[in-house]
Amino acid sequence: MVVDRDLCQGHGVCESEAPAVFSVSKQGVLTILDESPGDARWAGVEHAVRFCPTGALRIEDNGSAAAAPTDEDG
Ligand code: SF4
Repeated sequence: MVVDRDLCQGHGVCESEAPAVFSVSKQGVLTILDESPGDARWAGVEHAVRFCPTGALRIEDNGSAAAAPTDEDG
C-alpha cells in the first residue's frame, strides 16, 4: 500500500472505510496501521482507495511474505 503524501489532504475517508488500517490525526496526518492487511480488511482498503477524494492511495503488490501453503501446479 502506497500513500502519496503530496496528494493526501487528511480527509479521513480512508479511516472511515478501514479504521483498522488507516488512522488520520486531527492535524490530518495519515498513519498506516496495517501495512499488509489480511483478507478481512481488504474490502475496506479497496473502498478507501476508491473513495479517497485526492487519489492518494494506491495498492501495490509488493510480494506478501505471508507463509501460506500453496499448491502450485507448474
Ligand atoms: S482519504 Fe485520501 S486524502 Fe483522505 S486521509 Fe485518506 S489518503 Fe489522505
